[in-house]
Amino acid sequence: MQLLRVVSNLDEAIAALGGDVELWVTSAGEAEQLLDYGAARARLESAGSPVLIAFGTGWGLAAELCTRAAFRLSPIRSAGPDGYNHLSVRAAAAIIFDRLLAR
Ligand code: SAM
Repeated sequence: MQLLRVVSNLDEAIAALGGDVELWVTSAGEAEQLLDYGAARARLESAGSPVLIAFGTGWGLAAELCTRAAFRLSPIRSAGPDGYNHLSVRAAAAIIFDRLLAR
């Protein structure tokens, strides 16, 4: 908890991280251009800018915020016919961080 910093908006978060960050967004929905987890892991392991991953609440992230992102991560898909999987943000974050960072 000592690492947590509360900020008011995305610009404050980016500034708090030094300004030069690569923004990734997350959503339960499909999109044409998605970053899969293999490519995402490779990107995290390369010596690029720090990555800021944004998670939404309620109806998800605002479209204006998503347009600022360098990448949108692939959704966590269900086994159902359309793959849609509406998760709580804490469940989505846990699965995504495991996929990105687990050894
Ligand atoms: N309709 C919203 C959407 O499509 O993102 C769902 C919002 S959900 C209650 C809150 C947040 O959890 C989302 O903004 C996203 O960050 C994350 N989330 C929920 N389900 C997800 C999934 N299947 N894949 C990736 N992220 C998900």
